[in-house]
Amino acid sequence: MNFKINTNKNPAMSKPVYIPRKQSGYAHTKCYLSHTNGCSTKITGEHCISHNLLNKIEKQNKTIDVVGLSWLPKDEMTSIGKKSLVSNVLCSQHNSDLSPLDSAIGDLVEAIGSIDVEYQNPIPIGVNYCVDGSHLERWILKTTLGLVNSGQIKQRSGEPFRLKSKCIELLCSPAARWPLGWGLYIATPIGKIYHSSSFELLPQHNAETGELLALGLKFNGIAMTFLMGRPNPKTAFGVRRPSKIIFLKDLVKSEIAFSWSNNKAGKTITFSHAGVYSGPSPDHQLSHEE
Ligand SMILES: [Zn+2]
Repeated sequence: MNFKINTNKNPAMSKPVYIPRKQSGYAHTKCYLSHTNGCSTKITGEHCISHNLLNKIEKQNKTIDVVGLSWLPKDEMTSIGKKSLVSNVLCSQHNSDLSPLDSAIGDLVEAIGSIDVEYQNPIPIGVNYCVDGSHLERWILKTTLGLVNSGQIKQRSGEPFRLKSKCIELLCSPAARWPLGWGLYIATPIGKIYHSSSFELLPQHNAETGELLALGLKFNGIAMTFLMGRPNPKTAFGVRRPSKIIFLKDLVKSEIAFSWSNNKAGKTITFSHAGVYSGPSPDHQLSHEE
């Protein structure tokens, strides 16, 4: 018999994260936010992919599988150590200003991982989590800017990706207007989702212009896409800014609720837990958009 007990975790909304523009001040040539004139003199050897996230993944004995990093074999998914992801593209001031965004991704990965672990218990309980979706989107922007500016992701030709200028604006201010269609999409499950216990990253770009259009992200088999453009068709990438993801196992229900600053959330996505599968994920080979 299953008991349905729900507990709530991390219900609070996060504080706003804002990078002010100054009339005068220091602009560090290596910092990608130097145009705001608010730099410190020191550049940080920070990870492009948050420390917080990397530590959580490592704690769960998971690998970080990345597709599309310039120094990895082309078209192959490769597991990498966290030391390889250090970049020097933000000054210490701006790095510290943006660091609160990191907790959103940590919260999400922890929630997905905990629900997964809970559902492997003989008598699982339902657990509810809350994730700041707006911070999550800006964390993805920060990660993308870090990976592109440090040259860790590049076009196959070796040329750098081009980023739309709106990306910096959206990262610096929670009040910036998001262009139509931009933002985080979560794919609705089709068939079985295999929990591959990994983190995957897949940049997609326009091969003619070199412009980065999307960053695919996958945690424990849940596929998300961050779009820097309008999807065509509208539903091609799943639900934009879903209100919740629900995980069902028999009578037990767990959920991850997202908060969005504009209060306009998309529909709920439901995943049903079918069983435990410990083999390799059959969809491990990812393909690039040409
Ligand atoms: Zn700076």
